Amino acid sequence: MVRIIAKNISKYFKKGKNRVVALENINLTIENGERFGILGPSGAGKTTLLRIIAGLEVPSEGELYFDDKLVAKGGKVIVPPEDRRIGMVFQTWALYPNLTAYENIAFPLTNIKLSKEEIRKRVEEIARILDITHVLNHYPRELSGGQQQRVALARALVKNPSLLLLDEPFSNLDARIRDSARALVKEVQSKLGVTLLIVSHDPADIFALADRVGVLIKGKLVQVGPPEEIYNKPISIEVASLIGEINRIEGKVTKEGVIIGSFKIPVSVSSDRALIGIRPEDIKISKEPIEEEKWILVGKGRVKVVGYQGGFFRVTVSPLDSEEEIVTYSDHPIKAGEEILVYVKKGSIKIFT
Ligand code: ADP
Ligand code: MG
Repeated sequence: MVRIIAKNISKYFKKGKNRVVALENINLTIENGERFGILGPSGAGKTTLLRIIAGLEVPSEGELYFDDKLVAKGGKVIVPPEDRRIGMVFQTWALYPNLTAYENIAFPLTNIKLSKEEIRKRVEEIARILDITHVLNHYPRELSGGQQQRVALARALVKNPSLLLLDEPFSNLDARIRDSARALVKEVQSKLGVTLLIVSHDPADIFALADRVGVLIKGKLVQVGPPEEIYNKPISIEVASLIGEINRIEGKVTKEGVIIGSFKIPVSVSSDRALIGIRPEDIKISKEPIEEEKWILVGKGRVKVVGYQGGFFRVTVSPLDSEEEIVTYSDHPIKAGEEILVYVKKGSIKIFT
């Protein structure tokens, strides 16, 4: 277990004559034994941050501490990667095909001075924790997908790291085994108590694993908090749209709310204009009035586009007298051109002013 502290870390890359700012003033503390997730779109700087923490990349500015120990500072690596006690898993989980599971797991130990017996003890111990003792003599092609992941994870953990770094570890896996891979990582982390940092563009990875989430956009850490807070109270529409599809609606504010053509969206804000976000699942369309209290009528609209998405329909709706479009889902088919009533769920509207 280790506590990671980043102080004002920035990273610049040269690209021809240009300077790319990959990270800008990152301040972050990851506690001992914590499971921390970084969510960000492609190109946000996630891998760069992991590589700096691993010691594979040098920060241009700022300081990085492991517990009280300074491990890197502006332009300098002070503690090299091999002395940082880190295990890493990347997108591929790739195993060496010509080595057995045992040899794959033992591989990181070959460069350190250990007796054969000591190596065997360590491999067997981690294999027991991951429940792969019975397949240690098998080659990767003889293992199921799930067993291959266990072997890859065992390899990352065999040196008994105090920090486990995961870079988009689930994005190349079959949807079928993705859930079990997430659950496996979580289980092993809590067994070993190792500090965990996972980065991904997929909120499902982050929400499945992290106790605390940092959102990274264009090199800046824009929000840090527990998963529920990131989900329910995103600080900007950009953060909200990383977590899932959201309708972005900008309009004039009156006493009745935000006005967009025939839609009156009931929010109270003090400014003249407002930017609001509503998730598709928080909008309901109906030909008949809905009498449930949780659904608030917004106005009449017209169906523009309907697409079948397997199990549900994705519907684009416009106010009667406006070209604005909002997206919602429907569990039954509906025809383009039809006039319908549009409702929003009480308490679901996110206001960004
Ligand atoms: P992510 O992992 O979130 O997709 P990266 O950390 O890989 O993002 O990249 C962040 C930014 O830094 C991108 O603009 C990328 O092009 C740039 N970058 C990353 N590594 C290098 C490098 N070695 N040389 C130049 N630019 C780089
Ligand atoms: Mg990356």
